[in-house]
Amino acid sequence: MPETTPPVPMEKLVSLCQRRGFIFQSSDIYGGLASCWDYGPLGVALKRNLKEAWWRAMVQEREDVVGLDAAILMQAKVWEASGHVAGFADPLVECKQCHLRYRADELKADKCPACGGELTQPRMFNLMFKTFMGPVEDEASITYLRPETAQGIFVNFENVLNTTRRKLPFGIAQMGKSFRNEITTGNFIFRSREFEQMELEFFIKPGTDEAWFRYWVNERLNWYVKLGIKREHLDFHVHEHRELAHYAISCHDIIFRFPHGWAELEGIANRGSFDLVQHAKHSGKSLDYYDEDTKEHYVPYIIEPSAGVDRSFLAFLSDSYAEEVAGGETRVVLHLHPSLAPYKVAVLPLSRREQLVTAAKQVWADLRRHWLVVYDDAQSIGRRYRRQDEIGTPYCVTIDFQSLEDGQVTVRERDAMDQIRVPIAALKTIIADKLAGEPLFTFTHGGQIWKRGEEEKAKAP
Ligand code: ATP
Repeated sequence: MPETTPPVPMEKLVSLCQRRGFIFQSSDIYGGLASCWDYGPLGVALKRNLKEAWWRAMVQEREDVVGLDAAILMQAKVWEASGHVAGFADPLVECKQCHLRYRADELKADKCPACGGELTQPRMFNLMFKTFMGPVEDEASITYLRPETAQGIFVNFENVLNTTRRKLPFGIAQMGKSFRNEITTGNFIFRSREFEQMELEFFIKPGTDEAWFRYWVNERLNWYVKLGIKREHLDFHVHEHRELAHYAISCHDIIFRFPHGWAELEGIANRGSFDLVQHAKHSGKSLDYYDEDTKEHYVPYIIEPSAGVDRSFLAFLSDSYAEEVAGGETRVVLHLHPSLAPYKVAVLPLSRREQLVTAAKQVWADLRRHWLVVYDDAQSIGRRYRRQDEIGTPYCVTIDFQSLEDGQVTVRERDAMDQIRVPIAALKTIIADKLAGEPLFTFTHGGQIWKRGEEEKAKAP
């Protein structure tokens, strides 16, 4: 695979995230809690934008998908039916010498990678966090923190079908927290024990599954590319039969060139009728679908694109990070797609003179009604541009003494660093047009350059 530039080292991203308030270690003042992360002021903004972009593409702009927000805690029976109580486990080995623990299927040799010591026999370790509901800690009150959002969708299939009068094919989308007691974590937010997923369960007629599977693989790939991930940094891992999860007929992982190497970003699975059949069996409720067109009853098949919010966050961060030489200085810049950028605009008075500050704060207040906008009056204007470049702010608006006379301000664009002078009265419209308008990027696809909006779309079956 041709690789234009080496990936940005993880340490640079971690350092940027801590320095600028994207991500902090959980429970930091107590020394931190391994594999849990807190999203700071910039991190939460980027994360919300990312989830919004997914919701927009997967629910709002489609006619065949509706949303759901199910509870994290569910009846334990759900996880028995789904196969998670019996089978959601990884093989755990421990070094007899230094007592470090590993996932046996991730080890390349049968010795401890840290000290070379002998390893124990693998034992299956269930990844679900177990807890108790109510004041009594007994078998009957056991419940689990969900390890995926998907089951909340399956058990609501009937509810959604009955209340929305949907016909197949249609999907239910959900995003939210999931928890897995992973044996080994690491690589920053790539693998943690508490994370967020964005999942779609798309219900279809059996027999149309292969075509819908291909359709969703292509849709999801395009979503990343449209939002600025380089096509050459995405690829597929096609699961062989022995790798497939217990529920899956087929599965493609979208893999991404992360700073630590190629790894899974999103999994797209053909789950067949497994889930609905299991829940029908365990709940005693029929989850058949009556097809009015063909007058048949059948259990729908499901295609599931399942993405990780945190892994996507890391991917967007990693692919947008650049160190560039500008005006004899090196600048760090996040070339984030404007829809993902934490702040859309920064408002900068040229100096702290009262009149400028007053005018700038008025502009700030006006723009804040439309977007998340930051105000910065500390240090030189050059320094302030650099600070905004480093967090990916697409536009800086500078108010100078001339502005007080002619009512015009300077708009500076992050990527090309072009500057234009515009009337304050037209500022909101001009920025809105810029944010919605011409693409900041072009994308490569199959060796061809194509523009946002012109990308290849697989036809829905
Ligand atoms: P892996 O093989 O890396 O453990 P998985 O195949 O178990 O991942 P899925 O069950 O397919 O993952 O979950 C769907 C998506 O949820 C993944 O592609 C990933 O983006 C995200 N995800 C899963 N586990 C974690 C985790 N521990 N931390 C962060 N994100 C995760």
